[in-house]
Amino acid sequence: MKLRLHESIKNLVPYKPGKPVSETQREYGLDKIVKLASNENPLGVSKKVKQVLMAELENLHRYPDPSFFELTTAVCKKWNLKKDMLSFANGSDEILDHLMNFLCEPGEKVVIPKTSFIAYEVSAKTFRLEVVTSKVDEAAYKFDLNDVLVKAKADSKIRMVYIANPNNPTGSYQPERDLRSFCAEAAKIANFYVVIDEAYNEFVRAADFATAMHWPIELPNVIVIKTFSKAYSLAGLRLGMIHAAPEVIEVFNRVRKPFNVNWLAQKAAIAAIDDQEFLRQSQEVTWTGLDYFYKKLSELKLRYIRSEGNFVFFDSERDAQQLNVNLLKQGLILRPLLNYGFPTQFRMSVGTAAENEFAIDALAKGLQQVEVK
Ligand SMILES: *Cc1c(COP(=O)(O)O)cnc(C)c1O
Repeated sequence: MKLRLHESIKNLVPYKPGKPVSETQREYGLDKIVKLASNENPLGVSKKVKQVLMAELENLHRYPDPSFFELTTAVCKKWNLKKDMLSFANGSDEILDHLMNFLCEPGEKVVIPKTSFIAYEVSAKTFRLEVVTSKVDEAAYKFDLNDVLVKAKADSKIRMVYIANPNNPTGSYQPERDLRSFCAEAAKIANFYVVIDEAYNEFVRAADFATAMHWPIELPNVIVIKTFSKAYSLAGLRLGMIHAAPEVIEVFNRVRKPFNVNWLAQKAAIAAIDDQEFLRQSQEVTWTGLDYFYKKLSELKLRYIRSEGNFVFFDSERDAQQLNVNLLKQGLILRPLLNYGFPTQFRMSVGTAAENEFAIDALAKGLQQVEVK
């Protein structure tokens, strides 16, 4: 059967997640695998969250709360947000899809900075949107926000820009002053939205960074999305959050499915944001791990970028495909970035101290065995 498909669907390349541990074990016949490929939290699920999850198993015959009442109340209290400016989804990737769908008409365009999260592009194409790539500073991988403004002002088909702050896969970030004045300038462009994705903001150490979480109150052109997959360690349960103008949230709640967020995710998130100690430990393990990676990567004479996320972007100076196979055979899963257009670079998530040491040892071996490109 030949399907009649739109060009953008025909050419769609799906988002490629990190290689699963079980698949790697099967393929290479290994027992021990260290996966530092998906920026997951190495501490596992917090004890307090586990207790809540165990108790809530009793309630899984019921549909989840479609209005997120308890979760909304808890999140508003925690971050001092307004209820009518908040909603949730089955991971922040669901939010991307809805925004592309209801804020843009097919054939319109979204700006995505070069060297940013590939999921934005996949989502845009699914909704038959054209992707306009904005410039980055190739040394520090900072986004050229002025280039975004120039492009958006010149083309009335451009509906929005996605700013991951901090950015994945580079770990670079936009300082508060730059991003805030960019958002204010962008507000002057009709029907143009700035979507700020703060998947990693808990890990930032840079003093001139600030969360944009409250900006939509004054700047209704700003939409902030957040995930519970990283610092809150709930990647497997799928929960994302959107904070935006009430008008945006109202439509969002109409297009999403009523039961998009499962019961366990709603309950787990309430416990997770209350567990300050777990968050503190997550930050500590991340920062210690990053500093360890910086030191070891320097010793290995590899170039890397200082990261504000829970991962580091480095240049192996080897063919990434070849080095990746070598590392997989040793039981290490990192993220080669070939699909991001980086032929020799990798992204390595921070693990536990033991995992980090294992990764550096495997990498050192791999560098010996694979010739410099
Ligand atoms: C990991 C990540 C997310 C999280 O996505 P979920 O669908 O919520 O798991 C979002 N944005 C960026 C930039 C990420 O790296």
